[in-house]
Amino acid sequence: MKIIKSKDVTFEYIKRDENGEVEGINKALDNINLDVKEGEFISILGANGSGKSTFAKHINSILMPTEGTLWVDGMDTSDEDKILDIRMTAGMVFQNPDNQIIGQVIEEDVAFGPENMGVETAQIRERVDEALKTVGMLDYKKNSPNKLSGGQKQRVSIAGVLAMHPKCIVLDEPTAMLDPAGRKEVIRALRALNDVEKITIILITHYMEETIYSDRIFVMNKGKIAMEGTPREIFTRVEELEEFRLEIPQITRLAYELRKEGMRIPECVLTIKELCDALSR
Ligand code: ADP
Ligand code: MG
Repeated sequence: MKIIKSKDVTFEYIKRDENGEVEGINKALDNINLDVKEGEFISILGANGSGKSTFAKHINSILMPTEGTLWVDGMDTSDEDKILDIRMTAGMVFQNPDNQIIGQVIEEDVAFGPENMGVETAQIRERVDEALKTVGMLDYKKNSPNKLSGGQKQRVSIAGVLAMHPKCIVLDEPTAMLDPAGRKEVIRALRALNDVEKITIILITHYMEETIYSDRIFVMNKGKIAMEGTPREIFTRVEELEEFRLEIPQITRLAYELRKEGMRIPECVLTIKELCDALSR
């Protein structure tokens, strides 16, 4: 079963002047074809302005295709009657955790989504505890969110989405405002969600190193899917990645340069450990 299916999706932002006349058209998505299977961990990688957020907003019916069709768990995102179901199936996490946390106490904040969905009180408690436990924040449930680090806040936002029991979570640059430690915490939480809870993850990022754990990567450039493959397939294509204005992780760059100089480094080096193993052979 495909949880997300995008068929020939094109989206144009239309700019109008004060009289409502079309002033300009910006094609932010250009014929996007992409499938995600239930339980997959997908990354969408791309530089600023490549169309990532525009695509994410389509998954949640915030935007609808100008042309083409997008389905979430079989539901057409242009179908107005399905918007609530679509939003409950695919939860969204955004860049800035401060804009997503509204409760004064962490457990209240996480309860907000299921409360709005009309879940029973006893069940809400259970869901809140379960969600906080999954992201490693259960010990903080009675605390105020104000004193948390960025990584902890973002994990609370993820718990808030989890408590709604979505099949899929879409995260639009969830680590962009975090320090390196916070970024690691969030990525670790996502891997656990996917491995243990089998939740489909769509991670949108411009940090290449965050995508090495995904099953597949889609690279976006100027509104198009420019590359698609496993991390091992994508990370070896250094020159193309640079062309798409992505910053190459040090280890990938080093392995690439060494190979170019004729050293026998396998093409699939992703981590420091793999490079060390290759060099000591
Ligand atoms: P990304 O998330 O990869 O940085 P976006 O989806 O935000 O990319 O933007 C894709 C393109 O659409 C860019 O050229 C951007 O300037 C344009 N764009 C984004 N939002 C709007 C908007 N509200 N109105 C007009 N153009 C927009
Ligand atoms: Mg964006």
